[in-house]
Amino acid sequence: MRAVQVSKPGGPFELVEREVPRTGPRQVRVKVKACGLCHSDALTKEGHWPGIVYPRVPGHEIAGVIDEVGSDVPRWKTGQRVGIGWLGGYCGHCESCRRGSFVTCANQLITGITMDGGYQDFVVVPFEGLALIPDGISSVDAGPLMCAGITTFNSLRNSGARGGDRVAVLGVGGLGHLAVQFAAKMGFYTIAIARGKDKEPLARELGARHYIDSTAVDPAVALQQLGGAQIVVATATNAQAMAATIGGLAVDGRLIVLGADFTPMPLNTAALIGKRAGIYGWPSGSSIDSEDTMRFSALTGVRPMTETFPLEKAAEAYDRMMSNRARFRVVITTGSPDAS
Ligand SMILES: [Zn+2]
Ligand SMILES: [Zn+2]
Repeated sequence: MRAVQVSKPGGPFELVEREVPRTGPRQVRVKVKACGLCHSDALTKEGHWPGIVYPRVPGHEIAGVIDEVGSDVPRWKTGQRVGIGWLGGYCGHCESCRRGSFVTCANQLITGITMDGGYQDFVVVPFEGLALIPDGISSVDAGPLMCAGITTFNSLRNSGARGGDRVAVLGVGGLGHLAVQFAAKMGFYTIAIARGKDKEPLARELGARHYIDSTAVDPAVALQQLGGAQIVVATATNAQAMAATIGGLAVDGRLIVLGADFTPMPLNTAALIGKRAGIYGWPSGSSIDSEDTMRFSALTGVRPMTETFPLEKAAEAYDRMMSNRARFRVVITTGSPDAS
């Protein structure tokens, strides 16, 4: 089979032939149909995640079909269409797992980082990480829903916002174009915030009721003119841009940080007090959250916008994704036909 691996931090993508891997007792083998690319793939490519064992195959937005099932795997069957996201597996015995919070597992397996991911024809994964893909969701669409999708969907549905509340989405990109759709379909008064006018027509098409060009107006003032946002979902990886929205929060408003920026955020902490406002981060979720994301998408018509590349052009696909010019998620395909 073909695999695209990275052999050392900062090394190039290498297209290699590997033996098709066999399953262990609690694993399944998935014939990969599609794998979305995510900025976090750079953690593997550049070696920014501590302790990665190379060579490593990146990719944590996997969609495919089960083609071999280990001896101790309950429930799952060959031929089922499944997705695998960031959380590849969890230990079941750390404090988080014992409290039922698998995504914060202290010993988690991360797809494409601590175990091989989806830039290949077949991948072997623990069954705990599998999410069933519903009919009506193609493999190319399922891929991005496994990271960009679940992260935006799951953070919004756990944000405490209620139908009709004002929810602002900062950034209309890979995560943001999904967050706008999810927020609108969940019944929130959805406000998109981005730089410039270019993305306004699309943001409105995706369900935004209001668009704020952060280069033309102060987003905090603009949000306050609308009555304040109960939630700002920050998908843009820019701490400055996030900080600029805090003054636009309503009473008890929350800024949810989804985009990872490693530069410090300038913040007037006094502004949080009177409004009881808060800032917190949100990781993706567990496999059942992925399944919920896809079922909600099937139900409401939420879909990622994608550009596809064949597996052998993974390097080109990666450069396209990193350029931030893709509209909006880049997906590699293996050429195996969809089972359904
Ligand atoms: Zn990701
Ligand atoms: Zn654990």
